[in-house]
Amino acid sequence: MTIRMPAIFFGHGNPMNALADNGFTRAWSEIGRTVPKPKAILCISAHWYIPTVAVTAMANPRTIHDFGGFPRALFEVQYPAPGSPELAERVQDILHDVSLDEENWGLDHGAWSVLCHVFPDADIPVVQLSINENEPAEFHYRLGRSLISLRDEGVLIIGSGNVVHNLHAYAWGRHDVEPFDWAVRFESKARELMLAGDHEPLVDYETLGQDAMLSAPTPDHYLPLLYVLGLQREDDAVTFPVQGFDGGSISMLSVRIG
Ligand code: ZN
Repeated sequence: MTIRMPAIFFGHGNPMNALADNGFTRAWSEIGRTVPKPKAILCISAHWYIPTVAVTAMANPRTIHDFGGFPRALFEVQYPAPGSPELAERVQDILHDVSLDEENWGLDHGAWSVLCHVFPDADIPVVQLSINENEPAEFHYRLGRSLISLRDEGVLIIGSGNVVHNLHAYAWGRHDVEPFDWAVRFESKARELMLAGDHEPLVDYETLGQDAMLSAPTPDHYLPLLYVLGLQREDDAVTFPVQGFDGGSISMLSVRIG
């Protein structure tokens, strides 16, 4: 009997979480200890936001340090998980209109800053799927749904972004600040809709008013959530294994489906 894998959205937040030992990272580790061991991981990261749909297909993806202004130690982090050209081809079989990226991308910090806590041994193959920046929210939700059979093939699909991600309002390095009212309201609304299985307003999040505009001023960190919601089956439970805010304007909420 095959085990149906869950699908998980991770709020990754500050890249420094890769080096941190805090409530968020400990909760990520706990997820790794309790989830059925996947054959491979397919990751949709906010940080591979490009004008096309591509999937990493190299045997050994590099660790990409796609940020600036952080301590040297963060640039020295390596996450040496293998790739999976087989899974990349399987994704291409399912989606058709996707290119195999054999040499360009690798693993960006949306993937490795979380995975280094969830699966610290880096022994599970990881493939990344890009987010096509030219497509509307509905496209991303549907694309997630079309990958649903992978959950029965031992593949753990993870989205990595943040339900609330506003860097203009972010208090860098301040973990003790109260979250903004609009951030709390938008996250609560999103949770309520997820628990009710009411995805339509979450896909049409731009119609949710001022709170949504402040919480997702750009689509990149929000869209990975829609892939994960698209993977939900009717009998799947929805849980929030990681909760909290960082710097007032970043929700660290994780959403587990199944
Ligand atoms: Zn990010």
